[in-house]
Amino acid sequence: MQEKLSEEMRDRMEQIRQNYEEITEEIARAAEKSGRKAEDIHFLAATKTVEPALINYAIGLGLRYIGENRVQEMLSKYDEYHLDSCELQFIGALQTNKVRQIVGKVSMIQSVDSIKLMKEIDRQSEKNGIVTNILLEVNIGRETNKSGVLEENLEELLKSAAFLSHIRVRGLMTVPPICEKKADVFKFFDKMHQLFIDISGKTMDNVSMDFLSMGMSDDFSEAIQCGANMIRVGSRLFGARVYR
Ligand SMILES: *Cc1c(COP(=O)(O)O)cnc(C)c1O
Repeated sequence: MQEKLSEEMRDRMEQIRQNYEEITEEIARAAEKSGRKAEDIHFLAATKTVEPALINYAIGLGLRYIGENRVQEMLSKYDEYHLDSCELQFIGALQTNKVRQIVGKVSMIQSVDSIKLMKEIDRQSEKNGIVTNILLEVNIGRETNKSGVLEENLEELLKSAAFLSHIRVRGLMTVPPICEKKADVFKFFDKMHQLFIDISGKTMDNVSMDFLSMGMSDDFSEAIQCGANMIRVGSRLFGARVYR
C-alpha cells in the first residue's frame, strides 16, 4: 500500500513537472507575441483541492505564487506550505467575518469587490501592523450572482482606497464568463485591459496598477496576449481537481 501510494505520487509529480514546463513555455510565447518578456508575467498556481506535498513539489520547480480560494482549506494547509521562495495569495470569494483569519498570512488578496471588505482588510491589517496588498475584482461579464464589482462602480472603490492606509490597491482581477467560442473571451480580456490602462493613466492615492490578473488553464495565453501580467492556473498544472 505504502509503495503503491508513493508510486502514484511519483507519477503525479512527474506529470506536474511536465505541465509546469509546458505552461512556462506557453507563457514565454504569449509574452513574446505581446511584446513582453516571460519574466514580466507572474504565474500563480491555483491550489484548491491540491495536497501540500504536491504544492510544495511545484514550488520546488520555481513557482513563485500560489493562490487558495477557501479560507478553511487554506488554514488547514497553511503550516505545510513551503513559503520561503513563494508567496501565498487569496483568490476566492471572501466574507468580511473571515478576513481576520487570513490577514498577515497572505501577501495579497485578489478578490476584493466592496468598500466593506476593503475597510475590514484595512482594520485587521492595522491591528497586525502591516499593509495588505489587494486587487479589485471586476465582474466584467456583468453576470448576476458572480462576485466582482461592476465597471461603473470601480472608480468609487478606487477612490475610497485613498483613506485606508493599511491596504494598497495593486491592480485588477477578473474571472470572465465561460465562453463557448474562444474569440468571445477576448472581448472581456480586452475590456479589462482597457480599464487597467485607463486607471493607470490617472493619479490616484494609494493605487498602483501593477497587476492585471486574468486567464486560467484554458485561456491564459489569450489573456496574456490581451495584456494580463498575472495568470492563475490550476488544473492545467495539477491535473483535474478531485473534490473530497
Ligand atoms: C480555481 C481557480 C483558478 C484556476 O482554475 P483552472 O481552470 O483550474 O486553471 C483561477 N482563479 C480562481 C479564482 C480560481 O478559483
